[in-house]
Amino acid sequence: MTLATSAPARARPDAVRGTTLDATRSRTTCPGCGLVLPLHTGPTHAYVGASPACWELYRRLKADPFARREGSPLRRLVVDAYAAQHPGSPNRRSVQSVAVHLMGLCVRLEREGEQRRLVPVDGRMPPRKTMDLHWLAPPDFARAGTVADVLATGADDRYPVAAEAWARSVWAAWAPHHATVRGWLDAPCVAIR
Ligand SMILES: [Zn+2]
Repeated sequence: MTLATSAPARARPDAVRGTTLDATRSRTTCPGCGLVLPLHTGPTHAYVGASPACWELYRRLKADPFARREGSPLRRLVVDAYAAQHPGSPNRRSVQSVAVHLMGLCVRLEREGEQRRLVPVDGRMPPRKTMDLHWLAPPDFARAGTVADVLATGADDRYPVAAEAWARSVWAAWAPHHATVRGWLDAPCVAIR
């Protein structure tokens, strides 16, 4: 009779598709989305407020075929949702980043991606004097999904649905600032480009 010498493998709550993060290591809380993940020493973004472990999950999500194609509506939605959920701290670049990505979410989720609006939203910004971009106090994302939820679907054909649900939950969390974001989008300099 052979006795088992190790515990059977169990699904770990942090076992996101293909992750090699070690659950026995210390854990960190992402300052943006609040995900608690094993410590990861990789890189993160200069002004997107994400833990290195969360940034690694985002990198994996973007590398998946469903989101890989640059410029595709789904990839833009993923990029907007992640940036909006990781606003970082107030500075010139993060103010502009959060504003641009919130406008992206608004356009894609409320306005069916109006092309004429996407040009300035995704690229050049109008002159600052015509658009009062300012820091928006980040909301509580406790009820929003995370990039891990999308990865955890585990099926490529479910990613688009999961990604949109996540993006909608992020946009919903920003509800106190929806009027401001819509106002930025409706500034004359945006509408006519
Ligand atoms: Zn995060």
